[in-house]
Amino acid sequence: MDFSEIEVYPPAELLIKRSNVCDQGGVGVVSTHPVSSGLKYQLKGQIVNDITQHTVEINPNLHFLDTQFTGYILHSCQPNAQLDMKNLTLDILRDIGIGEFLTIDYAKTESKLFRQFACSCHAPTCRRWIKGNSEVISEKGSAFIKSLSRVYP
Ligand SMILES: [Zn+2]
Repeated sequence: MDFSEIEVYPPAELLIKRSNVCDQGGVGVVSTHPVSSGLKYQLKGQIVNDITQHTVEINPNLHFLDTQFTGYILHSCQPNAQLDMKNLTLDILRDIGIGEFLTIDYAKTESKLFRQFACSCHAPTCRRWIKGNSEVISEKGSAFIKSLSRVYP
């Protein structure tokens, strides 16, 4: 496995950019060069106690804050990358082309999200409403799911 030891952070081939594909705040991390499956990026940031929109969970009481890179990676229910919060790496799961946004599954790391949200990632396995892996679906989420079942019974 290739391990990219990076001197520039965030890695030069990854750029924080405004996205028009999602309703997750409008900003994501896009690749400016092809990124190969199996690549790992060492993450840099600080350990904090509170959840923010740009933190990733290490455990329910400790969160990782990286406002240069990690905190802007978008969610997908079928992501092209995943976080390893033990080793603090981003692991690329499949080849990523130029201009493609990096994605992770937020529910893989987060027991509780800063904010639950509707997902429109278009994956066949899309869960439609994204929440932390140990929290209950919010009222807004239940209403949203119910409205979908009226459209697609
Ligand atoms: Zn989805």
